[in-house]
Amino acid sequence: MANERVISRRAVLAAVLVVAALQAWTARAADPPPISYTIRFASLPSHLAEIDATIPTDGRASIDLMMPIWSPGFYRVENYATRIQEISARTTTGTPLAIDHPQGNRWHVDTRGASSIVVSYRLLCNERSVTTNFVGEDYAVLTGGATFITLTERAQAHRPHDVKLELPPGWKQSMTGLDPAPDRAANHYRAPDFDTLVDSPIVAGTPIVQTFDVAGSRHEVVEIGNVGAFDSARAAADLKKVVEAHRRIWGELPFKEYDFLLVFRQGGGGLEHKNSMLATSNATATDTAAGYLRWLNFISHEYCHAFNVKRLRPVELGPFDYEREPHTESLWISEGFTSYIGNLAVTRAGLSTPQEFLDSLSAQIRQLQNAPGRLVQTLAQSSLDVWTSEGVSGVNTNANTSVSYYIKGQIAGFLLDAEVRRATGGAKSLDDVMRLAYRRYGGGRGFTPGQFRATTAEVAGRDLSAWFRRVVASTDELDYTVALDWFGLRFVAGSWSLAVREDATPAQNDHLRALLQ
Ligand SMILES: [Zn+2]
Repeated sequence: MANERVISRRAVLAAVLVVAALQAWTARAADPPPISYTIRFASLPSHLAEIDATIPTDGRASIDLMMPIWSPGFYRVENYATRIQEISARTTTGTPLAIDHPQGNRWHVDTRGASSIVVSYRLLCNERSVTTNFVGEDYAVLTGGATFITLTERAQAHRPHDVKLELPPGWKQSMTGLDPAPDRAANHYRAPDFDTLVDSPIVAGTPIVQTFDVAGSRHEVVEIGNVGAFDSARAAADLKKVVEAHRRIWGELPFKEYDFLLVFRQGGGGLEHKNSMLATSNATATDTAAGYLRWLNFISHEYCHAFNVKRLRPVELGPFDYEREPHTESLWISEGFTSYIGNLAVTRAGLSTPQEFLDSLSAQIRQLQNAPGRLVQTLAQSSLDVWTSEGVSGVNTNANTSVSYYIKGQIAGFLLDAEVRRATGGAKSLDDVMRLAYRRYGGGRGFTPGQFRATTAEVAGRDLSAWFRRVVASTDELDYTVALDWFGLRFVAGSWSLAVREDATPAQNDHLRALLQ
């Protein structure tokens, strides 16, 4: 009997393997041919990229093409097609084809029955933000939304998109979160779909690359631009500790490889992606201990987004329509909590002191409590209004008329953490809320505000709707009492600076330690 069971198990296993192999084969056979882009940098001083896009027509008499008008994670319409200087279409054998431009970001091409057409365009790349392109003497930064024209139909976005870069002489390599193309040639990549292409910025030049491994996940720290006296080795060692702290918070690292794409140049800002980040850094701004800590908190924020927003996301933030902006009331969770958890990870990694953590939080509280807009606009409304607010993508909003979901959201994270800890006698925390929400809604699903509230109540073992109503849906002043009391903190008289109470009980000291270690 025992042997028979082994044989039958083997037979079943063999059958399963055959079916799996067949499925893999049919999936491959069914994959439509890719859209293939070749990118050249013909004139570095003119900041130009030249792109040939070879686009299968599937036998259609005409096709419609589009370029995104915004980039996920940056809530501002940017109309990238305005950077196209020249565009033309032809068959793969060189016969010119008529190309119309019916609207700002769309084109229409008569294919004349060609099975594949080539669209060539020249792109001005002279901007230094993390959602636009830059091409210069030493390096290039290409972001997906601002670079790639594709077919308009949503169904077409699921076909592979290949990118090949032809680097100028003297440039060493390109780096991106994209997988290598099947031919595994240098600077040749394949995205399984348009979403992945848009989500994978590319830098090229002669970067400094360092790598480290955490739990089998390879991390590449890529530095390009004016690196100056930036201490790359120290940064990589510290980022490894930050990654380990995030892994403890989220319970896993959901990628085989992650790229920190760090561009050293004027400006600022970072943008999160599923398997990478693109961040503008300034070497001199990290010279001081305080400047370096700000930088670590900033990079930790962008890394935290690989979990919170790229995987655990408000239901409205995906799948993306690159021609229409989405509206959600939950950016205070996606951004504010990311700042709160990002700073916690740096402190738990041993890279900032408890007082430095409190100082950074105090700065946010001071900013909120001195902004009249906190009594005018709710957190939820601040998120919904992001596309039309005066600030850029929720940053530097008008403090008289609006509230920042970054600032009030970060403080809300701290207050909610205290609520959950108090409700469970310290057994659970915001970590548990986020980890459960990540498991339940991470990936394809997305959460509604009600689902996030319910997840919090489940972890806290208590209904917290009154807290959510007050903090998110009203303009009432925040109540700090619970948090101050739980962690044994006070505000220094006449300021919004958090300090540990001199008469804090051992239990309160333990609570603060549990938060920060
Ligand atoms: Zn962010």
